[in-house]
Amino acid sequence: MKKQFAIIGLGRFGSSMCRELHHMGHEVLAIDHNPKKVEAMEPFSTHTMVLDTTDENNLIRIGIKNFEHVIVAIGENIQASILTVLHLKDLEIPEVWVKAQNSYHHKVLEKIGADRIFHPEEEMGNRIAEFLTSEKVLDY
Ligand code: ATP
Repeated sequence: MKKQFAIIGLGRFGSSMCRELHHMGHEVLAIDHNPKKVEAMEPFSTHTMVLDTTDENNLIRIGIKNFEHVIVAIGENIQASILTVLHLKDLEIPEVWVKAQNSYHHKVLEKIGADRIFHPEEEMGNRIAEFLTSEKVLDY
């Protein structure tokens, strides 16, 4: 079934999520405050928007409330990530999934109601370690 996603922050993680969801046939709104990042995602998203998501009015203006699922992939700027998530939960977005930078960031995200928190580098490291030690690879 076709779903609607908004992705905020088009770094390596956000842009690869954007490409993949778009490739799978879902509707994707790609958002970043850097126009170059937004332009680069135009071929791989349904809509794009240049926007600073730390301002709640910006989120209201673009109708973010129509989205059930928003992914926040702002990493280094922890303050921007936290403010954005705070606004999204205030606006009652049901599913807010967030990339965390470290354990302190994770704790704050939990407190303000993030629905799912990712640590992509750690999770990928674990997966690759599992894959490396899986029977198939050991046999090979
Ligand atoms: P990655 O490792 O996935 O490349 P990162 O952890 O280095 O990402 P950043 O580069 O800090 O994360 O952030 C990802 C994106 O979020 C950047 O493209 C940045 O322009 C965008 N971003 C940062 N602050 C805001 C904001 N207030 N509003 C919208 N986008 C923002």
